[in-house]
Amino acid sequence: MRRLLAAATVLVSLLVVACGGDTDAGVTRGPASAPLVALTFDDGLNGETTRQVADLLEQAGMQGTFFVVGQTVEEQASLARALLEHGHVIGNHSYDHERAQADDREYAELGRAEAEFRRVLGVCPRYFRPPYGTETRYTKAAVRGAGMRTILWDVEVADWSEDDAARLAQHVLERVRPGSVVLLHDGSDGHPGADRTVLLRALPTILEGLRAKGLRSVGVDELLGERPYLASC
Ligand SMILES: [Zn+2]
Repeated sequence: MRRLLAAATVLVSLLVVACGGDTDAGVTRGPASAPLVALTFDDGLNGETTRQVADLLEQAGMQGTFFVVGQTVEEQASLARALLEHGHVIGNHSYDHERAQADDREYAELGRAEAEFRRVLGVCPRYFRPPYGTETRYTKAAVRGAGMRTILWDVEVADWSEDDAARLAQHVLERVRPGSVVLLHDGSDGHPGADRTVLLRALPTILEGLRAKGLRSVGVDELLGERPYLASC
């Protein structure tokens, strides 16, 4: 019995080491050992803008991860399906992009959005990005309980307020390194029609710059070496 306990203790400490000790911690980047990065796009679906972002990625032979606001999916289902068909990853960015409240013990937004992705698209995203990056103990518990994973970022350039495409591209390319998760926005709070022309003008330069650095954008799933969708939700 004592030997069994000792073996169990070793196993638990190995698991803690493997998980970094905090299983609730959001992922900010992938391994630096491969020349891969993940460009991520929040706050869509946003119609033609989202479509153009996807087209630019595809023309460059790269993939993106779209953290989609759940309530946008039904009206833009064909766009969402096109993203999936072209190998981009769809993640959960809540149902209606409200900031998580400190006293919201349920955080039902998470499951509500999952249910919408499952109903309309038949997928259960593994990855969650909290609106405004706001996490509480309850959002963390909800993500853990659903078997999902929070994806944060290590490169952020305030693209939502940038008005100079060249500067936006330069800021991304200065900061990006192997394993980076880059925060960008193809939408705004899940409101259709948001103007993201600065991003659209910057993206070709960003993609060309990545290529020049020997880097390639892949989905978060490929960056982390796991499946992007859960078996059920
Ligand atoms: Zn957002």
